[in-house]
Amino acid sequence: WRFHDFDLPLPLMRAIQKAGFEYCTPIQAQTFEKALLGGDVVGRAQTGSGKTAAFLIATLAYFLEEKAPEGQKPGAPRAVIIAPTRELALQIEKDAKAFSEFARISVACVVGGMDYQKQRERLERKVDLLVATPGRLLDFHTKRDVDLSETEVLVVDEADRMLSMGFIPDVKRIIRATPRPEERQTLLFSAELSSDVLGLAEQWTHEATQVAV
Ligand code: AMP
Repeated sequence: WRFHDFDLPLPLMRAIQKAGFEYCTPIQAQTFEKALLGGDVVGRAQTGSGKTAAFLIATLAYFLEEKAPEGQKPGAPRAVIIAPTRELALQIEKDAKAFSEFARISVACVVGGMDYQKQRERLERKVDLLVATPGRLLDFHTKRDVDLSETEVLVVDEADRMLSMGFIPDVKRIIRATPRPEERQTLLFSAELSSDVLGLAEQWTHEATQVAV
């Protein structure tokens, strides 16, 4: 499959072209097939498979096709991407900014170990897509500096590492603050789909399609 085959919005196609991508990786083709129609996806994909572009392009395509809700509140992201480590979150933020270069989509990132105040100030403005690590996002949620109730798309990246790093209680509290699975789109990725990960996927997704590479 080529990116052209998926009828993606033009601003997104331009960014994909600029990145030099022409052919979809297998996880991308399988993710687009389901996610571009609004379905939930549980994907087994390792680092290097192109999973980041898979969920970012699916999320951004959704944004570019759906009108923003009226009166979008500052600090209330329409998409939330949770990743286990700061490095991964920062990489996702960078890719999200690159893919949204030709679109009017605002991207922010909140991660531990970096200036809290600066991140809090960023949340006072419009955020379409928020990339976060669990601990810091939960901090902002507890202090009501972020409003997760408007989340339309939720992405959980590297769910197996969230588990092994002990982040699941935090992630559960975060997800509880978003709309119910039936009322949002959820994309979950994990290098391995262990029974623990599948159990979480069962709780967090709605009629998901499992894809694997
Ligand atoms: P990831 O699996 O998300 O960590 O991505 C691995 C690397 O593959 C990244 O450096 C991407 O820029 C690159 N990549 C992702 N999708 C494609 C594609 N369709 N064509 C070429 N390179 C890609």
